[in-house]
Amino acid sequence: MTADDRIRKLESENAQLREHLAESESVLDAIQRGEIDAVVVSRAGEPRVFTLQSADHPYRRLVETMGEGAATLSGSGVILYANPRLVELLDSSSTTLAGMRLTEWAAESDRERVAGMIEMSSAAAVSDEVTLTAANGTDLPVRISFSTLEIQGDRYVSAIITDQRLARHHAALAEAAEQTREANDRLRDADQRKDVFLATLAHELRNPLAPIRAAADVLHRLNTHDDKQRKACKIIERQVTHMTRLVDDLLEVSRITLGRIQLQKRQDNLANILSGVVESIRSSTKLDRVLTLEVGNESLDLDGDTVRLSQAVSNVIENAIKYTTAGGTIDVQLIRDGADGIVRIVDNGIGISPDALPQIFEMFTQEDRGDRRSNSGLGIGLALTRNIVELHGGTIHGSSPGVGRGSEFVIRLPLKERRASPTEERVDSPNILCSQDILIVDDNVDAADSLCIALALTGHTTKAVYRGSAALDTIESSRPDIVLLDIGLPDIDGYEVARRMRKRLGTACPKVIALSGWGRDQDKMRATEAGFDAYLTKPVSPEALTRVIAAQFAGPAE
Ligand code: ADP
Repeated sequence: MTADDRIRKLESENAQLREHLAESESVLDAIQRGEIDAVVVSRAGEPRVFTLQSADHPYRRLVETMGEGAATLSGSGVILYANPRLVELLDSSSTTLAGMRLTEWAAESDRERVAGMIEMSSAAAVSDEVTLTAANGTDLPVRISFSTLEIQGDRYVSAIITDQRLARHHAALAEAAEQTREANDRLRDADQRKDVFLATLAHELRNPLAPIRAAADVLHRLNTHDDKQRKACKIIERQVTHMTRLVDDLLEVSRITLGRIQLQKRQDNLANILSGVVESIRSSTKLDRVLTLEVGNESLDLDGDTVRLSQAVSNVIENAIKYTTAGGTIDVQLIRDGADGIVRIVDNGIGISPDALPQIFEMFTQEDRGDRRSNSGLGIGLALTRNIVELHGGTIHGSSPGVGRGSEFVIRLPLKERRASPTEERVDSPNILCSQDILIVDDNVDAADSLCIALALTGHTTKAVYRGSAALDTIESSRPDIVLLDIGLPDIDGYEVARRMRKRLGTACPKVIALSGWGRDQDKMRATEAGFDAYLTKPVSPEALTRVIAAQFAGPAE
């Protein structure tokens, strides 16, 4: 080579070196400007990535802080970069991961599938659920998505890895929630069927009670001198009263649970209500406990449902009697506290344990005392009482210093400010009654006949028929003063019979009193619409019947 040739070669090498230098300078400039995150160096055909620690671009931050695993792979599936979340998921380190194939982290059964997906991603993005195995051996259900990145003619693969454990937990939770909802629906259905069953059962049980009560009343009135017969008669009366109470409680259960207790409010006086309840308890039971009532002189009026309030107070007083041993005392007191009336019922009976106290107002709750006394009710009295008191805007509170140390119940009811008006005074129905002509209509022949005899014994003229059509025929021919009419009749129901009677006889129509096994508020409303003058629920006591019949002929209130 001549000296000229050597000079030319050196000049060309020099030019190439300048070119490389210029290129390197522009790369350095780009690095300084932050335009480059990593340098890919190809060695023996295998690319290696050198990331620049100083590169701090927002998208790098995004990838590093994202909640999903992310990796950049070479076209053949070697991990070039793994974000912190993927490192965490695989329980590994970024240096261990870099350079390994992603397929090495797939569960054995999924390895081929993952390799296939990486290959297929060159044509289009692919996504599927696979299992990875972390360094600690945990199997990791993930959704993995591959897509191709083309950088300066080289193919890279980006992988996004989503942990499916949370999603699966969510799915399991959603399934459990659905199952709970279905179970709740089934329970609600069963509960409704139970309520309907209880109402039907109570209705069916009432039917035989009516004639038993009437027959017992007949025996009682026959005034037998045989001691044994009188005793037997008393037993029947007592047990029928007890059974009637249980059956009524059964009906109340469904009323409370279905929220069907409706109040028929009017202005009343708390002292009157209390006196009525105490009087009725004193007269109906042979008390061997001392029951005192203190009501004061002040008139405490409220807007309330007399029957329901009496029932509420009566439940608490009867409990006090039931849970107080012979010779004990039950004090009932009525006082005013600001705008409220307070009814205190204090007994010195068996008391309530602190454990049982919080539950006594719950339905079917009875303190287990291991004796028979606690089994003589259904455990709904206080639940019903609380319901009634709350419907009146009041509260009830029970307390006891402990077992054997008596109990105290306090009912608080909002009072009404009242301006006395003579026309508002309640006129009690007279109990004295002159003889009436009474037609009894009931398809239960025993019920009709026994009532027929019982009323005849009190001086009335009575006749029984067993079908609606017979009732319509009879009223035309014999014109009774009163018709005691059962609702569920086989041919024409009681509502229709009442309607036709009114239509045929107009103002000359006798007083029509419903005698029904159903005691729901809607049944009573329906009866009023059909033209009944009064509504009695079976089994009706002779006293109640006498009162209602008398009320039909009482003059207007003065
Ligand atoms: P029942 O009397 O039918 O069992 P209640 O709902 O009326 O049902 O009462 C619930 C429970 O509260 C009773 O079983 C009893 O354990 C307790 N209890 C209520 N009143 C008294 C009282 N005056 N003294 C002691 N225990 C009482």
